[in-house]
Amino acid sequence: MSPRVRFAPSPTGALHIGGARTAIYNWAFARATEGTFVLRIDDTDAERSTPENTAQILRSMRWLGIDWDEGPEVGGPHEPYFQTQRAGRYAAALERMKASGTAYPCFCSAAELEAKREIARAGEGPTGYDRTCRGIDPSVAAARIAAGEPHVWRLAVPEDRGDIVVDDIVRGETVFPASAMDDFVLVRSDGTPTYNFATVVDDADMEITHVIRGDDHLSNTPRQILVFEALGHAVPRFAHLSMIWGADGKKLSKRHGATSVEAFREEGYLPEAILNYVALLGWSLDGETTIISRETLAREFSLDRISKNPAIFDFEKLEWMNGVYIRDLSPAGLAEKMIPWLVEAGLTTTADYEARPAWYESLVPLIAERAKRLTDIAPALAFLFTDGVTLDPASADKALGSDAARDSLAAAADALAGLGSWDHDTIESTLRELAVTLGVKPKVLFQAVRVAVTGSVVSPPLFESLALLGKEASVARMRAALHA
Ligand code: GLU
Repeated sequence: MSPRVRFAPSPTGALHIGGARTAIYNWAFARATEGTFVLRIDDTDAERSTPENTAQILRSMRWLGIDWDEGPEVGGPHEPYFQTQRAGRYAAALERMKASGTAYPCFCSAAELEAKREIARAGEGPTGYDRTCRGIDPSVAAARIAAGEPHVWRLAVPEDRGDIVVDDIVRGETVFPASAMDDFVLVRSDGTPTYNFATVVDDADMEITHVIRGDDHLSNTPRQILVFEALGHAVPRFAHLSMIWGADGKKLSKRHGATSVEAFREEGYLPEAILNYVALLGWSLDGETTIISRETLAREFSLDRISKNPAIFDFEKLEWMNGVYIRDLSPAGLAEKMIPWLVEAGLTTTADYEARPAWYESLVPLIAERAKRLTDIAPALAFLFTDGVTLDPASADKALGSDAARDSLAAAADALAGLGSWDHDTIESTLRELAVTLGVKPKVLFQAVRVAVTGSVVSPPLFESLALLGKEASVARMRAALHA
């Protein structure tokens, strides 16, 4: 049977890096093994789950290019894929467990349970539920239920079960002593299922073969194994992923920077770069390859190359990788990606791009080498879209502060104004020759021209910039800078 895996986010917030990694590993494992990737929305926390969060999670997954074979919006044989819509399934599973005697009603009140916990804390009683109600005669229990007495349903952990061994694909064996497993609650007094019950009913129903998730769930796993056993269902394999840390060795959080996929998108990251980088947080292809395409990941991913050590999230490395992916785009591809950012910065319109796409593609060489994020592009290209530029005072001071610099800028304006053709090479040779004639360092001359034309000492490559801006505008800006 080919693997069936699931990603089961709770829509209590955005899709964060940790969740994205879980989704990516499940997806990649399904793709690499020709298995099935199921998306299930664990929305049982009614207070914190919202449709907006679900929509955002789905949007982030689609943006990353993680497609699911069964789940919301695509359907599948195990519909519905929202836990809140599966109450009938949980009720049916509970009925089966009642019939087999693996679940029993418990009438202990909250106050009674608290008193028991108090005794346990004092070291005088068992930790966990003491099974008071397990011995109630079924006909008595049925009568109390019929009389409307509030009750929960608990798992009857087999007395002879013995220790529970979780044989984790990533972490190896962890033994959970049977004594630590109490008869935990499956269904609350209001009829809602607990996480450990709903999840197992769903994983069993959906024929999940491998549960790949964060290791914050490792402690739930022995309980879930007991539920699988009570349902008479094969237990899936488990793979628990280690935590993701910030550079300081603490759990990755907002303090470290962006953590939601949406925030990275807004910061100008490409989905390919996020997918690649996040995939490497705890998995490696061969220990050295860092640039791994979606296709390679989908073909080569394997669970046995997941590391059990915590992964460190390195924002600088991600940014570097994003630059690699930006440079990997074709001019047309990058032009298309940068347009929304130029539009948002108020520099241009989509209509203008559609009217002259080739011109926008010709801007790509100006920024491709240096851009690390899409957010770098609009500031770097802004000078091309404005009538004039405001000189950055520090830049002007540095590049135009001396008489010599201003004289050479005036001479450069005259020399360029006289040119018959206007292209990169002609501009470059004209300015280089002028520097020789004037006896100034080329760098000094170029810097003066750069600041006059772009407003700043930091700009895209000079001759390309001038060529794209056009002769008239370039010369006008140089002259304007002399009067500034
Ligand atoms: N809804 C749970 C979570 O988001 C899923 C845990 C699991 O994969 O079983 O943490």
